[in-house]
Amino acid sequence: MQAKLFGSSGVRGVVNKDLTPILAVKVGLALGTFANAGKIFVARDARTSGLMLENALVSGLLSCGAKVFCLGVLPTPVLAYLTSRLGADAGVMITASHNPPQYNGIKIFDGDGTAYDEERQNKVEQIIEQENFLLADWQNLGGAFPLNESRLYIEMIHENVRLRKSWHVVVDAGCGATGQVAPAIFKSLECKNVAINAQFDGFFPGRSPEPNAESLKSLSKIVGEMGADVGVAYDGDGDRAAFLDENGVFVDFDRVLAAYAAHVLKKGKNRIMVTNVEASMCVERMVEPYGGKVVRTKVGDVYVAEAVKKFDAVFGGEPCGAWIHPEFHYCPDGILSSALLLKALEDEGKNLSEFVAEVPAYPVLRENVPCNNEVKYAVVERAGESLKAHFPRYTQISTVDGVRLAIEEGWVLVRASGTEPLLRLTVEGESLKAAESIMEKAAAVVKEVVEGFRR
Ligand code: MG
Repeated sequence: MQAKLFGSSGVRGVVNKDLTPILAVKVGLALGTFANAGKIFVARDARTSGLMLENALVSGLLSCGAKVFCLGVLPTPVLAYLTSRLGADAGVMITASHNPPQYNGIKIFDGDGTAYDEERQNKVEQIIEQENFLLADWQNLGGAFPLNESRLYIEMIHENVRLRKSWHVVVDAGCGATGQVAPAIFKSLECKNVAINAQFDGFFPGRSPEPNAESLKSLSKIVGEMGADVGVAYDGDGDRAAFLDENGVFVDFDRVLAAYAAHVLKKGKNRIMVTNVEASMCVERMVEPYGGKVVRTKVGDVYVAEAVKKFDAVFGGEPCGAWIHPEFHYCPDGILSSALLLKALEDEGKNLSEFVAEVPAYPVLRENVPCNNEVKYAVVERAGESLKAHFPRYTQISTVDGVRLAIEEGWVLVRASGTEPLLRLTVEGESLKAAESIMEKAAAVVKEVVEGFRR
């Protein structure tokens, strides 16, 4: 049996190797069949392969008789928002998010703006496998039309996020899809904003499409030199945001997530927030004093969105910077997150370094271990058994995603990447010494199991 096409974030792979125009046509045909043609929105991020894949995908949709609206280069959350706002039957985003430039992907959204869950992805995949496409007669082929309505999204944020102060913000779009919309939003919020890497460029010459402390060094320097209040950076398609404080210091993803969650829970209509199994235990430490309850899901925004809906949570977020604000929509939204974070700082009367200062900093270590896609899930299962044997004093085990072992001084999580041939190891400790010792032992165990599968 061939490997599954759809991972946790839709179809994802290296262009013209894993993800070819031929596959994109098939996804178009399958979606046109599954969604019964209908009205379908298509957008793409700034990658060099975007238009090639879009044309192929649209061709498949037209063959099924769909009415396709092409929205051009847009952030993923804008595509998701407009899909729901303007009543499309589905939205398709051509993006590989934060992956390197040679990657691309296809992510499908339902008419309510939530990403297709596993069940619906499997149905589309099944149609592709069986080539069970419902093609239209020549008289009933679909039509494709350009559509530019991103102003609706800008207006939505402008109307709902009112700032009292004119914040000085430096925005780093990383040459990704947020280059136009994000600066326009800060302008509409009357912020003094400077944008860098705001041109679309699929070679990502400014920095990696993945925002982290390493890739945001230029932004850090600019925030410091300009004396700005905050630096904001997005991933390639704008569903994630990363923040730098007023000193240009990169703000730890877990800590800002925990601080924002606590802020929302204080005034929320209920007390539930959702995060994934990878997030720091500082999230519980911050929200529990306000009567908050943390629901933990598998890693992947689809699962977080599902749980946010199911538990009617006030907030959902992953420590990669993907935050879901259910009062607006169910797609993680980096641009909206950055506007709401400024609002939270205003409400609390704090600057960003003060806002996160009260969150305990537990050292988190992450390590990737290369592992073939074909065996990665089996490796995780066996690694779980081996870890139990090597940490006999573990206090809790969870298999909601991979294997998460809680031990006295912290926890370790081993899971297979949804999009790459990797195992991801995450360790958190009460102290750096504890974290390092857990990681050293756990990484050795996992590598040994991977080796065992190679032999
Ligand atoms: Mg993304």
